[in-house]
Amino acid sequence: MTETQRLLRESRPYMTVAADKKSGALNHCYLILSDDDVARRELCRLAAKAALCPHGGCDKCEVCEKINDGAYVALRVNESEKISVDDVSELIEDSYFTGFDGDLKVYVVSNMQGMNEKAQNKFLKTLEEPPEGVVFILGASQQTSVLATILSRCKKLYFEGFSQEQIFGVLTEGEDDPDEETVRMATRAAVCGFGNLTRAQKLYKDVAFGEKFSLLVSVIRNLTSTKKLDEQLMKLKIDKSNIDGYLDIAETVFRLLLASKRGAAEKGFEELEGLSGEYDYPTLVNILELIIKCKRMSESNCNPQSIADALFIGILEVKYLCRK
Ligand SMILES: [Zn+2]
Repeated sequence: MTETQRLLRESRPYMTVAADKKSGALNHCYLILSDDDVARRELCRLAAKAALCPHGGCDKCEVCEKINDGAYVALRVNESEKISVDDVSELIEDSYFTGFDGDLKVYVVSNMQGMNEKAQNKFLKTLEEPPEGVVFILGASQQTSVLATILSRCKKLYFEGFSQEQIFGVLTEGEDDPDEETVRMATRAAVCGFGNLTRAQKLYKDVAFGEKFSLLVSVIRNLTSTKKLDEQLMKLKIDKSNIDGYLDIAETVFRLLLASKRGAAEKGFEELEGLSGEYDYPTLVNILELIIKCKRMSESNCNPQSIADALFIGILEVKYLCRK
């Protein structure tokens, strides 16, 4: 069992399904909600195992072993990013007509946000009259991407995210004696993940993360007027591949500055020294709101350059407006 699996088995969504199984009260449909792709996919699989294993997910019995080997016939897993009407038709047909050993069959669909509205409506009909002995374990990045009519038929289970320490543990898993640099990078990625393992792993694997962090801090430090903006922005070489990473880093920087206002400075971020004096409390709060808006822009596929302009011009404006 990996460290991620071990942690997720202690999470509320997993424990709920395992407890329902043990008390013989499994629901027809569960919906696991988390914007952490790695955690959601893993949780859906673990919950399926808990539902199928006669002992609620012992990880030792024949059923669990077969599931671990991917050889259990009564478990169907769909982890596709896009799910069409045809895919749903196939799934429904399979759930009604394909026989199986044992008395329970589980269908996992971990990316409901990728199932379009037409397909969701088709899927709804099955949830309204579920086939005997079938349990659906669905996952979605957010509640709003699932039709209200489907939501009302599911037991909703929220995954609240990992702690910084837990993420650090996952990132450094298998390293008995990590060197100083590894610890430094893993700590930074864990802090910048904000509870989201997928985000932290992406930052940790990014060899240029440390460099990007320092670069962004230096740009923020030198951001004194709109005249200098273009010159500073050039250094970041903003494009579609790095804008989300930069927004995460910007959020981290300003959250850390906010924390230092409250006297809780984060260790291992020496670039930030002296920076918090330039911002007062309301300025930092406003900038963090601005970063959230920029993240929404990125989610709706806005041009990366426009997002960067909105962010940095916005920071200058907020600094100006909050000036006493
Ligand atoms: Zn088992």
